[in-house]
Parts: sequence; structure tokens; C-alpha cells
Amino acid sequence: ASEANESLSRLASIGQIATGIAHEVKNPLTAVKGFLQLLQNETEHKYLQIAMSQLDNALDTLNNLLQVSRPDIHNEPFVPINLCSELESIIYLFQEHMYRVEFVKKFKDTQQMIRGRKNLLKKAFFNLIKNALEAIPGEGKITIEHYVDRPHLCIKLSDTGVGIPEEKLKLLGTPFFSTKENGTGMGLTQVYTTLYDHGATVEVSSSVNVGTTFVIKFPLIKTKEVTVKQMANLTYTAGQ
Ligand code: ADP
Ligand code: MG
Repeated sequence: ASEANESLSRLASIGQIATGIAHEVKNPLTAVKGFLQLLQNETEHKYLQIAMSQLDNALDTLNNLLQVSRPDIHNEPFVPINLCSELESIIYLFQEHMYRVEFVKKFKDTQQMIRGRKNLLKKAFFNLIKNALEAIPGEGKITIEHYVDRPHLCIKLSDTGVGIPEEKLKLLGTPFFSTKENGTGMGLTQVYTTLYDHGATVEVSSSVNVGTTFVIKFPLIKTKEVTVKQMANLTYTAGQ
């Protein structure tokens, strides 16, 4: 787990540095684009066209990077969160895919809370489930488990997708690493940055043509942070 934590911290800082640079570079580029647009109104020149389209490419890339760290959702407070209900609502968003992919929920310890930033966490699980769906070419299954393994709250996400070759596993989470034709390679960067922000760890195991499993472990919420009503619920463990 400490090894997983180290690589998470490394990837999270790569993500943070990259988004920091993106912020700095985007403003001057946007200004240059504005001036080129003004020039273009006065003189039609093919070099201007080329310069503009290259600028657009660069701005697209930066915008992809910046999606990882929208400052507004980064400033949201940590609050008690029940991941079961958040996961339910995210799975609901994918219901149009359910004719080909079966979603299996195995939720235990359903009253357990963690401390988290709601929108960032929702976005992270959205990105993970989206990847799982994209990894399944035809019919398949996505299994989502929620359980307590003290001192952690664990989420286990398995898919029956194409899998990830071993040499690619260590690249997961690196900004722009993508094997998809139209991939941004920013989804897992957002996921890993967010998990690091929450003191969580992630372990990935995969086997080609069989599937991929992500196990994510959050620190359990400390009892003193839980309200009396939630405390009463903590002893209750629901089945599936
Ligand atoms: P993108 O989805 O835009 O390619 P991500 O950062 O979300 O970027 O994912 C990076 C890469 O990791 C993907 O292109 C894919 O190769 C691999 N990957 C992520 N999740 C899975 C999965 N569940 N199964 C197989 N490959 C995956
Ligand atoms: Mg993705």
C-alpha cells in the first residue's frame, strides 16, 4: 500500500505541476490569438491561418489539462459523504449503456461515511466507470463493490474489458497517456490527483483480454467527526 501511495503522490504532483503550467501559458496564448484575429480582419494571409490553427491546437491541449483542476471544485469543503449513494447516482448516468454492459453492485457497510469533496469524487468515479465501459468492446460486466476493511473504506471496481498490458500499468495517471484514438489521457490524472487529495490509495491489477480491477482505499471517517445520528447507523451493516 505504501508503494501505491508513493506512485499516487508522484502522479498527483505531476498532474498539479502540469495544470499549474497550463494556467500560466493559457492566458498569453489567448491574448496572442486575439491579436491574430484582429490582424486577420485587416490582411488575409495564409500564414495567419496556419498560426491561428496551431494556436487552437495548443489551446485545446491546455483546456484538456485544465479540466483536471477546475479551481472552483478544488475549493469545495470536505464533508461527510456516503459513497454508496454517490455511486448509485453515477451509475444512473450510464444507464443508456446497460443494454450491453451489466452493472453489478455489491454494497456492504452502506451506512459508512468518508470525508470528501463531493464533486471531485463524483467526477473521479465517473471517469473510472467511463474507462471501464470504454474498455468493454461488446457485452460485458462492471462490478462495483463497497465494503469496510478496517481502517479503510474500500471501493473495488472490476470490468471484463480488454485489460492493460503490464508495461502500460505504470503509465496510468500520467497526463496525456492514452491508448484511445480520441482520448485525452486526462481522466486518470484527475482520478489520481483527487484520490491523493483524499489520502486514499489505489491499486490496479489487470490481465489482457480478461479485465481490470481498481481497488481504492479511503481512510475511515473518525467517529468524532460523525454526527450522533450517523453514529447510530454505523453499527448497521446492510447486505447487498
Ligand atoms: P483516456 O480515457 O482519455 O484515454 P484516461 O486517463 O482516462 O484517458 O485513461 C488512460 C488510459 O488508461 C486509457 O487510454 C486506457 O489505455 C487505460 N485504461 C484506463 N482504464 C482502463 C480500463 N478500465 N481498462 C483498460 N484500460 C484502461
Ligand atoms: Mg478516460
